[in-house]
Amino acid sequence: MAPNAHLDHRKPLVFDTHELGRRPGALQRLTREIDAPKDLGIAGVVGVPEGAPVELELRLESVMEGVLVTGTARAQAEGECVRCLEPLELELEADFQEMFSYPDADDRGRPKAEPTDDAEEDEDRLFIEDGLFDLEPVLRDAVVLALPMQPVCQDDCPGLCSECGARLADDPDHHHDAVDIRWAALQGLAGSLEDGEKDEMSGAEAEAGVDEKQEK
Ligand SMILES: [Zn+2]
Ligand SMILES: [Zn+2]
Repeated sequence: MAPNAHLDHRKPLVFDTHELGRRPGALQRLTREIDAPKDLGIAGVVGVPEGAPVELELRLESVMEGVLVTGTARAQAEGECVRCLEPLELELEADFQEMFSYPDADDRGRPKAEPTDDAEEDEDRLFIEDGLFDLEPVLRDAVVLALPMQPVCQDDCPGLCSECGARLADDPDHHHDAVDIRWAALQGLAGSLEDGEKDEMSGAEAEAGVDEKQEK
């Protein structure tokens, strides 16, 4: 069991289940706006800036062994395009569902499992402490899952020019003279294959060429 025995009800991501009660089937809906905690998102890629508003919508449902929490978090995430490195913003909407168990649930409901099974299961289980639960680990996991691992500023972002690093989306006609020369060579080659023309850019054909005519 995680050592979170002393949850602070004043922490923004700690919720109180006293009002909900322990009668199975009881429901409570609530919304809360919090300031994003530090490092909410995918480190170094995209995330919600610390202190930015995060809207939480929660539905608490009392069940036999604990409280089932279903919810959505909405916030504005920031990062940079993996292709062109431009800063980008995106609307984050992260859904989550998590079971918070009463610490005494094992004693009440189910038969004792093998000790080894218990130990493994407890690693991932979240618990209600004194009627409180901490949503922070759930929110963190949900946000990471909802964010793109490779955010792009637009689906067809052409990225950066391999020659000079210019952002191609800003300048679709971007080109360099070196590229033009290669194109001219290809066009010249195509021309000489057609007409048997000589072209200064295609040496092999130039040997066989008989006509110096230019067609530009
Ligand atoms: Zn981009
Ligand atoms: Zn360039």
